[in-house]
Amino acid sequence: MDPAKPVLSDELLGRIAARAPGYDADNRFCEEDLDELRAAGYLRLGVPVSSGGAGLGLRAMARVQRTLAMAAPATGLALGMHQVWVQAARAVTARGESFLQCVLDWAADDRLLAFGVSEPGNDRVLFDSATVAEPDGSGGYRFTGTKVFTSASVAWDVLSVFGKDTTGADPQLVHGFAVRSDAGHSMADDWNTLGMRATQSRTTRLDGLHVPADRMVRSLPVGPTADPLIFGIFAAFELLIAAVYVGIADRAVDLAVEQVGHRTAFDGSPRALDPDIRRGLADMRSTADAVALQVDALARDVDELVDHGGRWFPLLVGTKARTVDAAARVVDEALRVVGGGSFSATNELSRLARDVRAGQFHPSSRDSAARTIATSLLGPLPA
Ligand SMILES: Cc1cc2nc3c(=O)[nH]c(=O)nc-3n(C[C@H](O)[C@H](O)[C@H](O)COP(=O)(O)OP(=O)(O)OC[C@H]3O[C@@H](n4cnc5c(N)ncnc54)[C@H](O)[C@@H]3O)c2cc1C
Repeated sequence: MDPAKPVLSDELLGRIAARAPGYDADNRFCEEDLDELRAAGYLRLGVPVSSGGAGLGLRAMARVQRTLAMAAPATGLALGMHQVWVQAARAVTARGESFLQCVLDWAADDRLLAFGVSEPGNDRVLFDSATVAEPDGSGGYRFTGTKVFTSASVAWDVLSVFGKDTTGADPQLVHGFAVRSDAGHSMADDWNTLGMRATQSRTTRLDGLHVPADRMVRSLPVGPTADPLIFGIFAAFELLIAAVYVGIADRAVDLAVEQVGHRTAFDGSPRALDPDIRRGLADMRSTADAVALQVDALARDVDELVDHGGRWFPLLVGTKARTVDAAARVVDEALRVVGGGSFSATNELSRLARDVRAGQFHPSSRDSAARTIATSLLGPLPA
């Protein structure tokens, strides 16, 4: 059975799809989508059944995200950050650690989690931070810095934060969670982007934000590490982000087939009989299928604790980078196959063409993925 069905009914997906153009035009957060999805149990999908959730693992969640993104890519991406944390927690728990239990508890309580990782110009992403983390002497930290592209900035209940503590002998990257009522955080009104507008991924400023010891979850050395937290975030992030872009590619194929079906050439022959159009559509479908199957297979391997050893990171980053590139190619081809009508701002394909561009900016970028894969083949570059 489609794991999306119990929560994402056709009626709900229809309402979400109908609202998407308005959020995009008004540059507004997908608030009503969140309200309806929360009421339907979407925030609890990955929570164990024994705690009131649906117990979905990464593979099933990737399929849910793909379905949601077909209706509204920005809603899928923004709310997908919550699912990244929940699936990271599941992956960590399945590997014998309990330090992300708080994430599952918040999700069981229908509280929306957001992802405060990205920082301006920080291309080391999780492996270093420009945010200052100052110990409070009791195991907690005060965070000062800037986080960019915080999706669901206007709606999150719990925001992950991390920063660098340089007070000890070796600098440490410390990870914790802020709740909205904490003092010392603010957001800018600076989200006005080409696409994915309903995510409202605004800049978050941390100004001495205090996270107490009971909401600090991990302390790690600077630089790459295969710690369960990093594995959990990487696996869930790369595959759930990729799933959103698979959904965009799927939707582009459907729209192209539908719109080609309504058109005839000048001589009255159906465009669907044109060999070039048929070839274009076939290429689009097979391109989307190839990446969809990669996402599905790797997500299954995460759930089933398959040991890919040192291949895990190259496999994850390669799958994400390939998927967003493939989705962009599929959407571009859909525009070409459908023709000039797709260029209208009211044609859904033109919104997909803008939304799909965001994929290249999420870690891991194509270049960063290539570096990781090359290192796994040839060893690291000399320092
Ligand atoms: C739609 C969307 C949603 C996202 N959601 C999230 C999320 O929820 N959580 C999250 O952690 N990340 C999120 N990201 C961030 C994403 O994962 C990347 O980290 C982000 O796109 C930065 O990519 P970059 O390294 O190419 O950009 P950068 O070059 O780092 O630029 C990012 C921003 O910082 C500014 N900037 C760059 N360098 C400097 C500097 N030296 N001084 C001042 N400003 C500078 C840029 O002008 C830009 O506004 C999202 C991205 C997108 C596109």
